[in-house]
Amino acid sequence: MSEQITGQITAAAAAVDTRHWIGGRRVASARTFTDLSPIDGSTLGEIARGGQAEVDAAVAAAQDAFPGWAATPRAGRAAVRRAIAEGVEKRLEELAAVETADNGALLRSHRRGVMPRVAHNFRFFADWLESLGHDDFDTRGHANHVSWDPAGPCALITPWNAPLMLATWKIAPALAAGDTVVLKPAEWSPLTASLLADIAAAGLPDGVLNVVQGLGAEAGAALVEHPGIRRISFTGSVPTARRIARSAAANLTPLSLELGGKSPLLVFADADLDLAVDLAVEQYDNAGQVCLAATRLLVESPIAEEFTRRFTERAAALVQGDPREEATDVGPNIHPRQVDKIDGFVRRALAAGARAVVGGERGDGLYYRPTLLTDVAQDSEIVQEEVFGPVLTLQTFDTEEEAVRMANDTRFGLAATVATGDRERARRVTERLVAGTVWVNCFFVRDLRAPFGGSRESGVGREGGTWSFDFYCDLKNTVTAPKGWSDHG
Ligand code: NAD
Repeated sequence: MSEQITGQITAAAAAVDTRHWIGGRRVASARTFTDLSPIDGSTLGEIARGGQAEVDAAVAAAQDAFPGWAATPRAGRAAVRRAIAEGVEKRLEELAAVETADNGALLRSHRRGVMPRVAHNFRFFADWLESLGHDDFDTRGHANHVSWDPAGPCALITPWNAPLMLATWKIAPALAAGDTVVLKPAEWSPLTASLLADIAAAGLPDGVLNVVQGLGAEAGAALVEHPGIRRISFTGSVPTARRIARSAAANLTPLSLELGGKSPLLVFADADLDLAVDLAVEQYDNAGQVCLAATRLLVESPIAEEFTRRFTERAAALVQGDPREEATDVGPNIHPRQVDKIDGFVRRALAAGARAVVGGERGDGLYYRPTLLTDVAQDSEIVQEEVFGPVLTLQTFDTEEEAVRMANDTRFGLAATVATGDRERARRVTERLVAGTVWVNCFFVRDLRAPFGGSRESGVGREGGTWSFDFYCDLKNTVTAPKGWSDHG
């Protein structure tokens, strides 16, 4: 760790500090890692590479700041978060442009969807906290009072596919609860976390929000192993989650895990076919780098040919290219390693007998052609494993029973989408699907009041609304007797 003052880069015309944010000041590291832009593979800059020393300093800062922040009245904490929401809105264009340069997702969705939602995350949890009641009840004349107490410093670890949205989905409720946080952003898209630190610095006391940049195996591992951490909230892949759970076990640190998926889209013959095709094509959003993506299209046999024809037509019309262009539908994938991984999945599937009806190959640079594979077996790798790229499979089914069985037949249970025109069928099928979120004739409609998370290997716990506070708070029940008072009252 060093305190040199270097450490600014220009990304998408914005100045971004590449150092950590610890205890209310910028801290550099002797070592750095290189951040690439997926748009053209160019180097955006060298980012501080934290390790044990930086993590120790950040956790110490979060511990020091905790008593003061926890004791700040709810309304005071809510006011700060509303101010952060305004700060995000003021710098929305800059945040959107930097995020696109850094992770390659579409600028238009960052502008119109993602960054407004970042601001909304802060406002929502400010409001929700104020509405969160205390439970009071009586037991034989004894008063029970249930309170939501702040838990302490939290470790927040986030992935690269929606960096700021996912980070603030954790930061906002944690700060609302009265906790302090240390955020370790993903090393493939670290920049907007640094801009958020600038924005939050205007209102938050020093040490309440800390950002340690670095690699998962170094900064991330040191953070989740730290005994000063009282909560670990992680969004990322299953193998990393297993490692983190092992570290958390040593200190019995409660953890929330939001993990991967292999979600199905069930298309019944009674569905509005245009709507079903729209839903299916939407799965290429963010170049398929969406945890919730319904990557397994399960289509009822009698309509499979027509569905495939219309889907192929629509997929062929998708514009793939620079994510900064308004007309672009599908941008690049995040990193050369990710593109190799995607291509590996596709090559192995083709070798095993799959047929590429759409795509099936790399484009230029980090662009992978939107791909649809058919002739895939239920137990094959391409049907069972998360690709996290623009690769969908199509399988057919003959009965509702078979559709549900195939839908549920993976290790995951993050989401499921059903396209049907029959309400009774929708009820029967959704009841039997194993998933944290089920959409019927729609996709990606999200409300922060709803529980969000995954079943099976897609996660542990739920976030959203009161569920977030369940995690970030220590619930306490205080029982007061009617007797023993000096005033005999
Ligand atoms: P990843 O698991 O490789 O990395 C996620 C984060 O963990 C990064 O910040 C990384 O630096 C850190 N990390 C890595 N090793 C660590 C360790 N040993 N200790 C502590 N931290 C460590 O995941 P990724 O490739 O960045 O993200 C893609 C995955 O995230 C996909 O599986 C996707 O489905 C999942 N995801 C899930 C959700 C959800 O809400 N369920 C949302 C987005 C992404």
